[in-house]
Amino acid sequence: MEKEVILSESEIKKQFDYMSQVKTLIGTGKKVYIRTFGCQQNEADSEKLLGMAETMGYTPTDKSGQADLILVNTCAVREHAELKALSISGEYKHCKADNPQLIIGICGCMVSQEHRVKDIKNRYPYVDFLLGTTLIHRFPEILFKTLTEKKRNFWVSPETSVIAENLPVSRVPGAVEAWVSVMYGCNNFCTYCIVPYVRGRERSRNPEDVIKEVDSLIKNGVKSITLLGQNVNSYKPLSKPGYGFPELLEDLCKLDGECVIGFMTSHPKDATAELVEVIAKHPPATGKVGISRRFHLPLQSGSDRILKAMNRHYTLEKYMSLVENIKRRIPGVSLTTDIIVGFPTETEEEFRQTLDAVRRVRYDNIYSFIYSKRKGTAAAAMEGQIDERVKGERLRRLIDLQSEISKENNVRLENLTVRGLIEGVSKTSPEKMTARTADGKLIHFTGNPEDAGKCGLFLIEKAESHELFGSLVKTEDI
Ligand code: SF4
Repeated sequence: MEKEVILSESEIKKQFDYMSQVKTLIGTGKKVYIRTFGCQQNEADSEKLLGMAETMGYTPTDKSGQADLILVNTCAVREHAELKALSISGEYKHCKADNPQLIIGICGCMVSQEHRVKDIKNRYPYVDFLLGTTLIHRFPEILFKTLTEKKRNFWVSPETSVIAENLPVSRVPGAVEAWVSVMYGCNNFCTYCIVPYVRGRERSRNPEDVIKEVDSLIKNGVKSITLLGQNVNSYKPLSKPGYGFPELLEDLCKLDGECVIGFMTSHPKDATAELVEVIAKHPPATGKVGISRRFHLPLQSGSDRILKAMNRHYTLEKYMSLVENIKRRIPGVSLTTDIIVGFPTETEEEFRQTLDAVRRVRYDNIYSFIYSKRKGTAAAAMEGQIDERVKGERLRRLIDLQSEISKENNVRLENLTVRGLIEGVSKTSPEKMTARTADGKLIHFTGNPEDAGKCGLFLIEKAESHELFGSLVKTEDI
């Protein structure tokens, strides 16, 4: 395995020097617009891009037409997300026609693939630079060079062993939730997945750096923190042999303050009994740092033959015994999962095994996906690709089953009082507020926006498959 390298102070300083130079170069009043696709890891990367852009003197805008710098942070996990990012980038051509000084950069997983780089070089001449996901720390440098050398730059080859600490991060002021990356990359090579090719091999941050960042967020009033990694269970900092994800959680629970720590994503082959014990030991509680009762455990398929073809390294029974242990040791746990339907050669019988597994576990929610061919992955070259119509029909059956189960699980909460963290004004109905329970369920209620960040007790009046509706009984001042 490649060795991880924490970037030296002089390399980080070099990037800060570029930030100062760009700041001098662009003067005042310049605006940046960032469009983000994909997962929370990408959202976290966009917070870093924005942090660096703000340090360089840009202010954020939510209107691409007003921007002097547009960044598209792309995803490569599904073809649909790539095509959408390309089509959006095409729309920015008109912004460039109105403002020839506009700089357009495309970052993220999509541009770490050779065929996409070639495509953008040839068909999107108004894109000024491409920056691969493992080179994000060099954003100030590529921007400086693009501004001064007046030529297009394509920096996409992965520096897979790098971890950049102490770069500026821009988080929403006053937000009660935050994401913290604990590791990057993946070594698993599930046969359907492009991530190891575009994000490189696994590398874990030093625990001291993670603990310092989480401590500072808690001191700044953040009440819910999600630790991010493609497979957090294989967190292994080279600086501390024998120290893993359970030890990191244990150390975070020693911090002062009140916060719920969640994490995603887990790989069932690496989720140990020790991890389950640490979670069991630290429930969220008033005045304490505790661990979320939501456990996301990707199953992907209920068929052992398909799991093997996916290179997942567990069987259904092994997964089920892990689930049993989690349910036994963590009362009230909310299990969620990822499932892919229509993996090459999946038969109707094997798909039914997935439905049976969903019935056995009774997840609170599943993230279900139609298998999508990713160029360069092993599964893309497999024979027996499934007809799109069959995949669509299987997806619908899976969604229908899960909606029923989610609703049945949630209805049990009707007329009960539950505790939740008040997040703020609802993103979908501005006249409502939302709160989230320790196991990740969303509650809609009518309340006062000033209560955001407080914990409250809620009487659940109505439950749907994916949301709860209730009233605030009382807030708990922390
Ligand atoms: S564990 Fe598998 S699915 Fe998850 S990122 Fe790694 S290769 Fe992809």
